[in-house]
This record gives sequence, structure tokens and C-alpha cells, in this order.
Amino acid sequence: MTITAAASATDTGGDPPLVPHWIGGAAVAGSSTRTAEVFDPALGVATKRVPLADAADADAAVAAAKAAYSAWRDLSLARRQAIMFRFRELLEARKGELAEIITSEHGKVLSDALGEISRGQEVVEFATGLAHHLKGEYSEQVSSGVDVYSLRQPLGVVGIISPFNFPAMVPMWFFPIAIAAGNAVVLKPSEKDPSAAVWIARLLQEAGLPDGVFTVLHGDKAAVDALLTHPDVRSISFVGSTPIAQYIYETAAQHGKRVQALGGAKNHMLVLPDADLDLVADSAVNAGFGSAGERCMAISVVVAVDGPLPAGSGAARSDGTAEPGGTVADALIAKVRERMAGLTVGDGRRSCDMGPLVTEAHRDEVASYIAIAEEDGAEVVVDGRGVEVDGDPNGFWLGPTLIDRVPTSSRVYTEEIFGPVLAVVRVASYEEGVALINTGAFGNGTAIFTNDGGAARRFQHEVEVGMIGINVPIPVPVATFSFGGWRQSLFGDTKAHGAEGVRFFTQQKAVTARWLDPSHGGVDLGFPRT
Ligand code: NAD
Repeated sequence: MTITAAASATDTGGDPPLVPHWIGGAAVAGSSTRTAEVFDPALGVATKRVPLADAADADAAVAAAKAAYSAWRDLSLARRQAIMFRFRELLEARKGELAEIITSEHGKVLSDALGEISRGQEVVEFATGLAHHLKGEYSEQVSSGVDVYSLRQPLGVVGIISPFNFPAMVPMWFFPIAIAAGNAVVLKPSEKDPSAAVWIARLLQEAGLPDGVFTVLHGDKAAVDALLTHPDVRSISFVGSTPIAQYIYETAAQHGKRVQALGGAKNHMLVLPDADLDLVADSAVNAGFGSAGERCMAISVVVAVDGPLPAGSGAARSDGTAEPGGTVADALIAKVRERMAGLTVGDGRRSCDMGPLVTEAHRDEVASYIAIAEEDGAEVVVDGRGVEVDGDPNGFWLGPTLIDRVPTSSRVYTEEIFGPVLAVVRVASYEEGVALINTGAFGNGTAIFTNDGGAARRFQHEVEVGMIGINVPIPVPVATFSFGGWRQSLFGDTKAHGAEGVRFFTQQKAVTARWLDPSHGGVDLGFPRT
């Protein structure tokens, strides 16, 4: 069934209304009869339905993308960039609409939804200048009369599979570069908050993108598996939890695809005793509870060093041994607790600090870790289970939670919780803190807080994590750099956006050229010598 392109993302009839696929430049319901409910998490009510694609829907999506690809890749780079530029301008003018959609399905507060759009917009801006990044190399006269040069070309139909927590930004990490480079994109957004992707598709069409170059296919594992195994899909860019990232990496690779699969995280903030504790407390609260902790770069563990500054720091003794430090944990916890008391939890459409969690099941799972902390002998300093809320009692609420003295053997420490639960681990030295960070399963982001340049420099050298903040709690690199972690936070060898993003969405050709002149040397079966 085709639904008119003029209809809004949800205005497709039925009760609750359906969020359509976007295939061949039109809203379609698809052939699958399976659907899932989409909730407004602040109300706790299912407000929409989303179709869950079957293999036939996936075939239709990929076929539309494939049909659009040839003409798109042959359009001049200047014109492809110009469409990205128009998209950027439309997005800038209308991002308030997109933010409202995000808040109504994800729950994050409106200002945070606008923030995620701005971070995604950076990648759109990067893609408007893609010509610079697609410049090839040229070596003249590598052999007599022979020149060699390289060029980068698009892959074809590329798949993007995104998580619920950034329904606009994460797709934007990938599709602006993929599209500007000449690929056709099939996006499979999270079924929990699917409307942002369709809104973006409509805006791309308004910006002049030809039909079929950007496709939205909704669904769950069936849709994902259809893309992973489809012979016409050339690459997969995935962001989500670690077990699924690993599955995506292995399955897509088995089917001959290029894969980048970004997984989960457990990000530590290492606090040295010389740090500015007011800055640390503000940063821990912002990075721990912003977006209800549902950020892959959220700080989930504060590692407080009650001990000396490390050897190698500016404050160390001239013989290289450590300088006696001090204690930081008690004072820091008092400051964090003071700030937490001022946080308001409520409907993200109203002025509050933190919204609900995305689903009831996720809220219950996150809350279960507070009980685990109690069982494991940790100290629950602030318990979010009893939160007072400015909103509907049926919303998926959980307040900011602070847990001190978390044993590193506890699941509260070892597992990704992905909610507003901040753990504190106390260590006796910088070395002990770094060893903890380096032996965890994940290596997405980390931060050090100190006023000592030597200690910070030692940390950036020693720590085995992909993105590092120095007095910056959420070190998400700007779009000109690449985003991605180490270890179980990234499967594959290519990060998102920046130079690595350009490489991922293009394949290189090397051309060896000789234009015949009277000096060509006749038959010679050996390799050319010079
Ligand atoms: P998720 O892994 O449950 O889902 C991600 C995507 O995979 C969705 O589109 C979903 O439909 C699909 N999916 C889910 N189960 C599947 C299965 N069995 N087979 C095939 N596909 C499946 O993740 P989520 O809950 O949507 O998002 C939160 C997770 O994403 C967290 O772990 C978070 O750390 C991670 N994340 C990581 C980054 C990063 O940059 N590393 C960024 C954002 C989110």
C-alpha cells in the first residue's frame, strides 16, 4: 500500500496511527502484517504503531535504492553536495519539529533533542565539503612515461542500522557522507522511536534528493537479517548494544559486506586528588544523568583516586616517585549529591532536567541494578526508585541514582546499565584506576579530571579507550574527526564520520596510465624496471 508523500509521518489512518516505511520517495505501509507499538514514554501510552518489515519489504527497499543508485552516483559531486547544503538549511530552519518528535518517542528533554540534532548537523556540514575529502593521489613518472593515480568511488546500496537513543544523530553520523559520496542508503531505525527517520526522509526529498537515494525500512531482527544477507547491500553501519554489534559484524562479514559495528559502553571518569571538584561534580551530574543516562558516552562510573598523584605528573617529586595526594571521594560525593537534589524529572516537553526512560521494560531493568547494588554491599546514596515526577504517573520514570563503594565484581560495575545510575569506585592510586579502565570489556570513552598536565598526558598515552576527555566528561569528537571506541565498543576497523567515514563509504581505485609515444618499447614479458 502506498501512502501519499504529503501525509505526515504518522497520519496514515488507523488507531493508533502507523509510522510508514519510506521507499522510492513515498510513505508505504509494506506487505508485512507484523507491527510494534511506539510509546510516548512520558505518558506511558502507545501513541503509534510501526510496521515490522519482512524479507519482501526489505527486497522492495533495496530494489528502490538500487534503481536510484546509478543516476545518483553519476550526478556531479557539486550537485550532490548542493543537495546536502539545502538539507542543512531546511534542517536548521525546522529542527524544532524534529526535536518534538524525538522527545515524544524517546523521552529526552527538548533542549537535549535539539542538541543531538546539532551534533548530527555537523556531519551534514562536513558532507557539504566532501569534494575536499575525495581528492585522490597522483604520482607522476613512476616509470618511464607512466603516471599512477587513485580515486575513490561509492559502494552502491549501503545499510545503516541505528539504536533508539539517538534517533536523529546516529543516522546522521553516516548518511550525509554516504549520500554525498554517491551511495544509496537504506536506514533501519530503532523500532522504539521510528518517526524521526521518516521526517528526515521527507526533508531530504524537499531538499531535492532523488527518490530512492534515501530509504527508511522499519523493523526488528527480520528486517535486519534481510539487510545483512541481501546480495545488493554492500556495507552495514551499525550502532547498538555489544551482543547485537558482534552478531551484525560476524553475519554481515560472512555475507561479504564491509562492516562497522559500534557497540555498548561503560565510561569511567578518573578523578585525581588535585582536580577542581566543583567542575568534576557538575561534569559527573551532566554526563551521568543527561538523557537519563541513555547515551553511549554517558559517564557511568566515577573512579575517585584517594591517593597520590602519579609519577610523571608535574607535581611528582624530582626522583620520579609519586607525590602524596589526598582524598577526593567523600568531598566529591557530597558535591554530586547536592547537585542531584536540584534535578527535576518530568515530561521532556516541559522545562525539566531529565525525562523518562524509553520503555517500561528498560526502566524496570535499569531499576533492578539498584537492588543488585544493595545485595552486593554497595551504598545507595541516592535512590531514584522513589522519584517525584512532574508528569503522568504512568510514565517510565526512574530518578537519578548514585551508588558509592561499588565492588568491581558486581554486575553494577561490570555491565552496561544504560540509565541514570552513577556508580562510584574508590581506588588508592592513579595506576589502580587506569588498570580498571584498561581491563573492562568496553573501550568507548573515558575522561580524566586533573589540573596536572603531566598526569593528563600520561593518561592519554596509557589508557586503552577510543575517545578520551581531559577535563571534558563527554569527549564526542567533532565531525571532522572520527567517532568510535576500542575493544567491545567497536567491531570492525573503521569509525564513524571524519576521514574514516569517507573511507568506509568509498572504495579506492588505482589507475596506472601511459599515453603512447614513439618511445614505447615493444614486447617484454618481465615487470617494467624503470
Ligand atoms: P540494540 O542493540 O537493542 O538495537 C540496535 C539496533 O539493532 C536496532 O535498530 C534494533 O532494531 C536492532 N536489533 C535489536 N535486536 C536485534 C537482533 N537480535 N538482531 C538484529 N538486530 C537487532 O540497542 P538499543 O537498545 O537500541 O541502543 C542502546 C545501545 O546502543 C546501548 O548498548 C548503547 O551503548 C549503544 N550505543 C552505542 C553507541 C556507540 O557509538 N558505540 C552509540 C549509541 C548507542
